[in-house]
Amino acid sequence: MKTVPGRTDRVVVVGAGLSGLAAALHLLGSGRQVTVVERSDQAGGRAGRARLGGYLLDTGPTVLTMPHLADEAFAAVGDSLADRVELIALHPAYRAQFADGSGLDVHTDGEAMAEEVRAFAGPAEAAGYLRLRHWLRSLYEAQMRRFIDTNFDSPFQLLHPDLARLAALRGFGRLDAQIGRYVKDPRLRRVFSFQSLYAGVPPARALAAYAVIAYMDTVAGVYFPKGGMHALPVAMADAARDAGAEFRYGTEVTKLEMSAGRVTSVRLGDGERLPCDAVVLTPELPVVYRLLGRTPRRPVRLTHSPSAVILHAGTRRGWPGLDHHTISFGHAWERTFDEITRTGRLMSDPSLLITRPTAHEPRLAPEGRHLHYVLAPCPNTTVGPSADEWRSLAPRYRDSIVSLLEKRGLDGFGDAIEEEQLITPADWTAQGHAAGTPFSAAHTFAQTGPFRPRNLVAGVENAVLAGCGTTPGVGVPTVLVSGKLAASRISGQ
Ligand SMILES: Cc1cc2nc3c(=O)[nH]c(=O)nc-3n(C[C@H](O)[C@H](O)[C@H](O)COP(=O)(O)OP(=O)(O)OC[C@H]3O[C@@H](n4cnc5c(N)ncnc54)[C@H](O)[C@@H]3O)c2cc1C
Repeated sequence: MKTVPGRTDRVVVVGAGLSGLAAALHLLGSGRQVTVVERSDQAGGRAGRARLGGYLLDTGPTVLTMPHLADEAFAAVGDSLADRVELIALHPAYRAQFADGSGLDVHTDGEAMAEEVRAFAGPAEAAGYLRLRHWLRSLYEAQMRRFIDTNFDSPFQLLHPDLARLAALRGFGRLDAQIGRYVKDPRLRRVFSFQSLYAGVPPARALAAYAVIAYMDTVAGVYFPKGGMHALPVAMADAARDAGAEFRYGTEVTKLEMSAGRVTSVRLGDGERLPCDAVVLTPELPVVYRLLGRTPRRPVRLTHSPSAVILHAGTRRGWPGLDHHTISFGHAWERTFDEITRTGRLMSDPSLLITRPTAHEPRLAPEGRHLHYVLAPCPNTTVGPSADEWRSLAPRYRDSIVSLLEKRGLDGFGDAIEEEQLITPADWTAQGHAAGTPFSAAHTFAQTGPFRPRNLVAGVENAVLAGCGTTPGVGVPTVLVSGKLAASRISGQ
């Protein structure tokens, strides 16, 4: 593995999102002196916290998987996730609600899920589900250490027996088709393939290898931190501070000062200069390249993931049909993906993720109130409406989501709303996210593994990237890994 040469005693981490916090903890564990500089006034980055009247919102991720990856970061400083955060395992992980009126609870326990599938679609599908589960686990085992949790120095590193194993598992087939080898019911196929959207690619076009995401949520399990998702970055920041990290919140990094191909100091918005031996850069790639004063040599422009509209709604009542996470599928499927990834239209028959965090943490709302987080995937601003167009579209789109929820069983939803906030691609753009999407570069084949923007920077020997724009990619588990990989480029461990 290539590592940063020379002295690496003092490291500045730019950004206190999950990747920056993971990098900080791993670096502290290897004896580095760490300063974390964050432009906002809180830790978490996209996993942030906002206040809406008496409600406390998680602004980003809601589905927490693979918490042991966070625990690895705590363990690096002799701390532990369990000592800092109470994690609730969600049973079921999701409730799936289909347009034909049927529903299915997605259990992560194999027996319970086989029983659920048997009742839902018959014994042949239940047997298929158990084989699918075995395949998902095998895919995960073939990929995690070799292709996800690894620092790539060359695409030739792919040439390992695990690659043959992945090929034998048909990991290079198309996701949708491979899932279809195990379960035939189109509703079940959706439950195990919609996750490819997290990686920014439709199931019909995604590599089957991406079923690893379905392993993470439908087999390994979905968790919810007591206090809300934001409790995770807060705990990581507390552990890093207790292990000796210095945090500078409300402070923007505006420049990296260089000498002889090394970053020698980090310049802050107020003009202060932090001398350093190495930097970990976690902002979006365009910001990173601007700070480095260079654009990468890349033959084609990056393709970005679809975006999302989020309606945060604090309501006077709840609806018993909703679980902690409910996926409300429309009739349409291929058309929906086509709209959000290719034609750039808003979903004509939407599928939505509805999260009700107050199911397990009533303190996120005033007493007797409920919080709903409704996520509607939508095109990014490269293929779909521009940020400007979203400003005028937003109220109509909000109304259409509310009336759709009412049609799908949440009667009186609109009238029950006491506080609300709508986030659209215009807001993601205003926050500086390229292509109006907070989900970064899509995981197309050409933007995955050794082909994703690397975490080392040509010509700058002591700058390392972390976060969703670099390897391994988008999502809480992957950015936690990216922080660890960045730290090991510096520590050599
Ligand atoms: C709405 C939404 C829903 C999601 N849902 C899920 C989900 O359910 N499950 C899942 O696994 N993943 C989900 N994700 C993805 C996941 O949250 C992200 O991939 C991950 O949090 C990104 O972490 P990061 O460290 O790469 O970036 P960030 O969290 O963006 O951290 C980068 C930090 O750098 C700071 N920064 C930027 N520029 C500067 C500068 N010049 N100076 C100082 N600081 C700077 C920023 O303020 C930010 O805090 C979701 C994301 C969003 C937005």
